[in-house]
Amino acid sequence: MISKQDLERLLERPSNGKQIVSLFLDMSVNSNNKRTHNIFLNQRRAQFDELDSDRQNHHREAIGEVFARVGDWLDDGFDEENRGVVIYTEVGGPWFEALQFPVPVRNQFVMSPRPVVGPLAQVLESYDHHGVVLLDREHVRILSVYLGTLLDEFEVHKEPLPTSRDVQPGGFSQQRFQRRKREEIRHFFKEFADEVAGFVRRDRPDDLVILGTEQNVAKFMEFLPEEIRKKVIHTGAMEVDETTSEVLGKLRPHLDAHREMEAQAALQQLRERLDQDYLATAGYQSTLTALQEGKVDTLVMERDHTRDGVRCKSCGFVFARMLKSCTFCDSQEMEDVNASEEVVRMAEGQGANIEFVGPGVISDLRGVGSILRF
Ligand SMILES: [Zn+2]
Repeated sequence: MISKQDLERLLERPSNGKQIVSLFLDMSVNSNNKRTHNIFLNQRRAQFDELDSDRQNHHREAIGEVFARVGDWLDDGFDEENRGVVIYTEVGGPWFEALQFPVPVRNQFVMSPRPVVGPLAQVLESYDHHGVVLLDREHVRILSVYLGTLLDEFEVHKEPLPTSRDVQPGGFSQQRFQRRKREEIRHFFKEFADEVAGFVRRDRPDDLVILGTEQNVAKFMEFLPEEIRKKVIHTGAMEVDETTSEVLGKLRPHLDAHREMEAQAALQQLRERLDQDYLATAGYQSTLTALQEGKVDTLVMERDHTRDGVRCKSCGFVFARMLKSCTFCDSQEMEDVNASEEVVRMAEGQGANIEFVGPGVISDLRGVGSILRF
């Protein structure tokens, strides 16, 4: 599984002058239950065979070794349940790191001085970590769900009061029994709420879903502390012992809708700000400038968008235009970069919120925009 920590580690990795291969593989299976990533890998390998074998930093042997390492890992390290793979490895150096997860990524092979993180950030930012709480009056199950799959599960069972045989409907002992039963439920729900609070502290889910009968869910919510109740994005009916795959299948449309709503809300705020010409940017250059000034609160970006740019080797400023010299320091030492990758790197590095939207949704903003903090 992958997490923000992987991304942070990659962002902090210093460049050592060696070229790094960043390889993204779509490992989903087609209608014949086959994976097709080898076609992509073979095409890439064939391209290198055609190249001059002694191009600087691209020595054929070192590249051959990269493909051999990738092949070995796919044979031994890949878990068949997963659908996406990201591999980073140095050309002519020892570093090799493979990440795998249950959602697909677009096939890409990039060679550059630093690991390419954009597509990984896109996966991480497009899915939330959910805590799914299923309960009835005697059990609670807490599912930790990320990228559509179960990471972990906890369960608490309580022994209910036995129903006494001499309890007559309407009688004195019946009233006493009912009162004790109500107290028992209160007691259990309080304990379940503590379990949920502990889970939130430990696992830090982005949000919570509470499932059970309408009455139990409403009652249980009263026991949750305010800051935890605020995390609840969906409640609904579900049997406490429903299979995990059934639970996830039924929840998926609700969770997708919630994710989409969040992205739409950010986009709407961005458009309103732009209309009022107030603390917002549209397009690559103004967004890059705002990022480099540390002003971005929320970045809104089109999925898989790419744009070429340059970085000044002297002052480090990144431009989304193919400038020959730096407009800040006049240096003529400019290196080519992927401006989209730079935007994501900076936003992630600064801890800005990032919302990815579908292709074409923000063409009028030239693929990227941001809401500014100041
Ligand atoms: Zn410069």
